[in-house]
Amino acid sequence: MDAPLIQHPGGFTRPNGRSDFEVAIICALTLEFDAVCLLIDEFWDEYGDRYGKVQGDHNIYTTGRMGTCNVVVVQLPNMGKALAASAAASLRSSYPQVSLALLVGVCGAVPFIRHESGMNAISLGDVIISNIVVQYDTALDSLGRPNKMIRNILAHLSGTIAHEQIEQRANSFLEDIQRKTRKKARGNRRRGYADYQYPGAANDRLFHSGYQHKHGSGSGCMICEKCHGDKDPTCLETLKLSCEELGCDSSYLIQREHLQSTPDDSDSDGPGGIYYHIGAIGSGDAVIRSGKHRDQIAAEAGVIAFEMEGAGVWDELPCIVIKGVCDYADSHKNKGWQNYAAATAASVAKAIMGRYIATVRVSESSQVSDPSRVSSPSWGSDSSPSLGADGVGRQVIQWDGGKAGSGVGAVRFNGNVSGSKLVAGPYSSGGTMDFRFA
Ligand SMILES: [Zn+2]
Ligand SMILES: [Zn+2]
Repeated sequence: MDAPLIQHPGGFTRPNGRSDFEVAIICALTLEFDAVCLLIDEFWDEYGDRYGKVQGDHNIYTTGRMGTCNVVVVQLPNMGKALAASAAASLRSSYPQVSLALLVGVCGAVPFIRHESGMNAISLGDVIISNIVVQYDTALDSLGRPNKMIRNILAHLSGTIAHEQIEQRANSFLEDIQRKTRKKARGNRRRGYADYQYPGAANDRLFHSGYQHKHGSGSGCMICEKCHGDKDPTCLETLKLSCEELGCDSSYLIQREHLQSTPDDSDSDGPGGIYYHIGAIGSGDAVIRSGKHRDQIAAEAGVIAFEMEGAGVWDELPCIVIKGVCDYADSHKNKGWQNYAAATAASVAKAIMGRYIATVRVSESSQVSDPSRVSSPSWGSDSSPSLGADGVGRQVIQWDGGKAGSGVGAVRFNGNVSGSKLVAGPYSSGGTMDFRFA
């Protein structure tokens, strides 16, 4: 049965039931889930899950509001395609109105992306946004192309203005995460509070793709001594030890110009902000740990990043993969960048939701009473509560897909402004009002 309607401070109304959720976030790792939850502005289930789930659904759901978007968050029990597919299928049963899943977390990436005009370098902490998912570990298989809503969002995200706006917005969310966790960690007896600070450019190391993570010469390790290329094995200890501990040879490091001006100090505010890149993401069941293998798959499949859940979710739900780069998918990978990369990905996800999707119900008395509660009052279309809400009906604001003449910042509101039923999307048969923002 639906829970009674409760108006929360700031005027946002808790959804009545599961069918009021249209956006889901799926995370594979606890640290990814934690980063996402740090950006939830208001939890709808702080005192227990009010919404339940269908029989046989073993997912654990967290519900809340991110800016102007109601969101249901699922953490997978582990990594991998099969678990992701099964969780996404259950999610679809319990939350049948979910029309967009954001798979948010960390990934490995290629260090350079080739463009017509040259190469773009990727740094650790950058965020990859999928425009397609490619399964590379079966026969190369590009999964179906995204639906129109996702294609519209991606088309807009690829523009210069969107890059600037989303990245700027994401940076402020990243600062929120860092501020919150600094505050929580201070004076807390529980050790191991995640640190989401920028680990420093000096720790963003890229080795030549053929140079293996192995014991240095003179270490006495007979296995590593015989390793002269990526086909030769290294000892098992290398999986646990860092480059410093093993003595990886820094003469094999690739110097990258864009990192030279980046502050090395891990206390700094980061490498001059979050960057995102849009491209094909490779999804497979094995972790890529070889620079050569990485480059080979990237060349064959045209992918710019690697992760393990995209193919599972993609088949079940309209999906955008948003993952922060925590390593270069080579043997030197370590976990030092995971928290920061999870935080940058969560920040970009929230910025995208705020820009393109709004699903909150706004109570009549407070439609515009507290604009500070809205995620982005200063730019774009996500400050939606003032737009035609009648206090009863939900509203969905969607970017209109860059229609000719709409201009940057134009949005289309496809909503029934007096009823309680959603009429959304570019093919809405309902009344349409166009708003334009300066
Ligand atoms: Zn060794
Ligand atoms: Zn190494």
